[in-house]
Amino acid sequence: MTKKIAIIAEHGNGKVKPITYELYTMAQKIQELEPSECDIQFFILGQDTKFIAHSINANTGENTHSVDIPVAHYNGSLYIKVLSALFTKKRVDYICAPHSTSGMDYAPALSVALKGSCITGVEEVEKSEGKICFVRSLFGQKISATLVGESCPLVMTLQPGSFKPDPFKLGSPNKKNNGMVEKIVECSGDKMVFTGTRPSASEGSDLDKAEVIVSGGRGIEEEENYQYIEMLAALFPRSATGGSRPICDYGWVKYSKQVGITGTLISPKLYIACGISGAAQHVDAIRDSKFIVAINTDPDAPVFRIADVCIVEDLIEFIPLFVEKFKKRHRGHR
Ligand SMILES: Cc1cc2nc3c(=O)[nH]c(=O)nc-3n(C[C@H](O)[C@H](O)[C@H](O)COP(=O)(O)OP(=O)(O)OC[C@H]3O[C@@H](n4cnc5c(N)ncnc54)[C@H](O)[C@@H]3O)c2cc1C
Repeated sequence: MTKKIAIIAEHGNGKVKPITYELYTMAQKIQELEPSECDIQFFILGQDTKFIAHSINANTGENTHSVDIPVAHYNGSLYIKVLSALFTKKRVDYICAPHSTSGMDYAPALSVALKGSCITGVEEVEKSEGKICFVRSLFGQKISATLVGESCPLVMTLQPGSFKPDPFKLGSPNKKNNGMVEKIVECSGDKMVFTGTRPSASEGSDLDKAEVIVSGGRGIEEEENYQYIEMLAALFPRSATGGSRPICDYGWVKYSKQVGITGTLISPKLYIACGISGAAQHVDAIRDSKFIVAINTDPDAPVFRIADVCIVEDLIEFIPLFVEKFKKRHRGHR
């Protein structure tokens, strides 16, 4: 029997978000590993999503369903209601959603509503002993867990940055399935009320313009040690300082400085992560940096997997010494 894979597209401001095509790459991997034939379909929830549906259809050649709901913005209770009604009618085996703020909100509840399984934060798909398994990190990327969905449908959320879309597999003219865009109208009341949007928290932080960004994490240990981050950043022209989410939560720095998937996504020439472990939510936002330096006392810190230069040192001792030496050398060159 043909297996069915549903992808819940993520979109905003009338555009498809890149994670949608990462979900497609993951679905194609499942398709390769599944012994039975697999059919991939996209579902786009929102108001007036026909244009988005056509663009996904043109890029992938897969069937695309535009699901009309009476709200323009994400609404968790409505998503769960509409998707569970939809997938009760249309049987599917896999439901792929993004590991985004909205995906993490609706995916687990959707699996409960459909009496299925749920695996969040998927980073890899593999086959072991004839079963399709899903790999995700645990404990700040220190442990890798391999999981299998025991009940159907399996609802998954995909960690952004895990499956880079393959341009050769997108929009292939040789696809058997030429794709279609079907409009499904779903209207029902909901319990959540949209109250408005706020400007991005990164406004005024210079994180988007800086060529060098130095960030501090929980490893700075106390608020006053953020001076070391500022001291290091001051060595570079066109620099800015940032922080991981915990130090913003503690109120040590403003949220406008938060680097990460729920803060600002950055792409400086140089990124220096000080006392930051390298959780997926932080690392996914720094991948586009040209050069990454990490300072951490733990030689096994996950941040070192992405860093170009790894410094295993206590930042509180290392940074003042480095700054002093750097300044001495700089004076010597003048
Ligand atoms: C939905 C969601 C969204 C999130 N969004 C974000 C986000 O946008 N940005 C973000 O950053 N996080 C985000 N997080 C949190 C994220 O999962 C991690 O908890 C967070 O990034 C960890 O911050 P950290 O690295 O500063 O702290 P920790 O993980 O506690 O790491 C501290 C590190 O400092 C090192 N250290 C300790 N002392 C020293 C020292 N003296 N010198 C050098 N190194 C030292 C330690 O070895 C450790 O590796 C999010 C989480 C969720 C669930």
